[in-house]
Amino acid sequence: MQRLAERHGGQPVGAMVPRVFRLADRRHDTVDTFTMMLEPTDGAPLEFVPGQFMMLSAFGVGEVPISVSGATNVPGPLQHTVRDVGAVTHALARTSVGELVGVRGPYGTGWDVADGAGGDVVLVAGGIGLAPLRPAMLEILHHRPRYGRVVLLYGTRSPEDVLFADELKRWENLGVEVLVTVDYGAPSWTGRVGLVTTLIARAGFDPRSSLALVCGPEIMMRFTATALIKRGVRPNKVRVSLERNMRCGVGLCGHCQYRELFVCLDGPVLPFARVAGLLGTREL
Ligand SMILES: Cc1cc2nc3c(=O)[nH]c(=O)nc-3n(C[C@H](O)[C@H](O)[C@H](O)COP(=O)(O)OP(=O)(O)OC[C@H]3O[C@@H](n4cnc5c(N)ncnc54)[C@H](O)[C@@H]3O)c2cc1C
Repeated sequence: MQRLAERHGGQPVGAMVPRVFRLADRRHDTVDTFTMMLEPTDGAPLEFVPGQFMMLSAFGVGEVPISVSGATNVPGPLQHTVRDVGAVTHALARTSVGELVGVRGPYGTGWDVADGAGGDVVLVAGGIGLAPLRPAMLEILHHRPRYGRVVLLYGTRSPEDVLFADELKRWENLGVEVLVTVDYGAPSWTGRVGLVTTLIARAGFDPRSSLALVCGPEIMMRFTATALIKRGVRPNKVRVSLERNMRCGVGLCGHCQYRELFVCLDGPVLPFARVAGLLGTREL
């Protein structure tokens, strides 16, 4: 219990009771994905680091882990970008502006973006995986002079699934190399078609000095991490964010346990080398 309390900055883990936030606004990003802007009803701001997640509850329905998708360094509502896939995410999608949502957290590990200072940073996102990486990108841009080249490789199923399209342009205008690819292009799509891994060879970064942050479906993270390491990125500089079935979020229930790891406490962000076996790769 002491270990858990320490991991939560001394906060009692008994704080399984969510804080109450109000849905201040909602943006529809794609046909099945939306961003919630949440404001605390008690007015006290909530601090987090990029990569951490919250347990969001739709009252009367259930609770789900969702990464923060907003910036750490600007005041404003807490942002979460959610794909509507099942019972709880659907209830969150149906929540009206002004209604209440429960928030526990922040929980878990962050991307530790500062570890990439002095070198290049490569962010690789698959689908909704761009949402947990967004705070990392915003943090890098906030401290732009500390980093070398910044690259975003982003793959989605179809052009309609591209998230944050306006922001991708803005990042490009700020000097980020943004390469987007889709699995299936529409006739009107003039961009790239193919897996996100095909972008790794094209992108301009020095692998030996790079920090790589990877978020997406597990198979995508496995092939991406392997390709990055093959290109020369050091294995201990490749990080992935794991999704596991989670209930408590604080290492008590064991739903997300993998060997000695509790993904909710030791993750979700972990060095690829530590979880390669879990992702089905021969361990490094
Ligand atoms: C640390 C962490 C961070 C996460 N961050 C985000 C995030 O930022 N945004 C986000 O949208 N999701 C995120 N997820 C995934 C999210 O928690 C699940 O989608 C959610 O728990 C599903 O709950 P539900 O009750 O809506 O669906 P359920 O009723 O539990 O599931 C309904 C159906 O959907 C399927 N399903 C469940 N999860 C997914 C999924 N991820 N993709 C496709 N099908 C699925 C199930 O297999 C089932 O068939 C995160 C998960 C973890 C562990």
